[in-house]
Amino acid sequence: MTNRMRRPLVAGNWKMHTTYEEAIQLAQGIAKGCIGLADVEVALIPPFPWIVALAEVLHDSAIVVGAQTCSMYERGAYTGEVAAFMLAPFCRYVIVGHSERRSLFGETDEVVAAKLARILAHDMTPILCVGERLEEREAGETLGVIERQLQAIAASVDPSQAERLVVAYEPVWAIGTGRPATASDAQHVARFIREWVAERYGERAGQGVRILYGGSVTAENASAFFLERDIDGALVGGASLDAAQFCGIVEAAQAAAQAKKEV
Ligand code: PEP
Repeated sequence: MTNRMRRPLVAGNWKMHTTYEEAIQLAQGIAKGCIGLADVEVALIPPFPWIVALAEVLHDSAIVVGAQTCSMYERGAYTGEVAAFMLAPFCRYVIVGHSERRSLFGETDEVVAAKLARILAHDMTPILCVGERLEEREAGETLGVIERQLQAIAASVDPSQAERLVVAYEPVWAIGTGRPATASDAQHVARFIREWVAERYGERAGQGVRILYGGSVTAENASAFFLERDIDGALVGGASLDAAQFCGIVEAAQAAAQAKKEV
């Protein structure tokens, strides 16, 4: 498959962290630290209550805002849910299928597919998380799990939408553990995902889809992932809560983008 330039994306998933003041400070610090790193798209994904304020704070920067999940329903009597259309004025991205949602909140492949359809219907970009658990990896089932998770959303995506998907490969055993995958293992899975998209939606979509790696990424280890051919950035948890660490990851993405341009 020929390589086409894809804009790298580094997205920070703040999970259920930050007070209001901390969120504003962190966003301002990251905006300042990322000035000049224009080859990389940067997305901050705070808890729901801070989304509107962050969108305002970041309005004059190149940084965009995302959400950590959304409802599978369009609107109605669903107490506590947040609908995709409510996020759309403020968010470019919505994470869907994060392993914490799958394992702690019982989100099935079917729920993930329904949410993904809502996100696309409201012109936002899903960051679809896929990844195997440790026992699945040890049983040699990694690619089978990834394929099942991709198959589950296939009917929610039409070929014209596939090109703008973002898929984050996040091995569950690497999330928040300080034990990242090796860059070559992550590349192997990223290549599999790209080929799956190309087979299902055509070569153009395969080349256009952005594939992120997520799982204990830091400013120190990021560059090895970004230099891999099929890895277009990172979904970052813990390290996104520290402006210097997070900007270090964005800098590594910028340097890798330059290096890939020269190949
Ligand atoms: C995540 O939660 O998506 C994640 C990758 O977390 P961490 O970077 O902390 O492993």
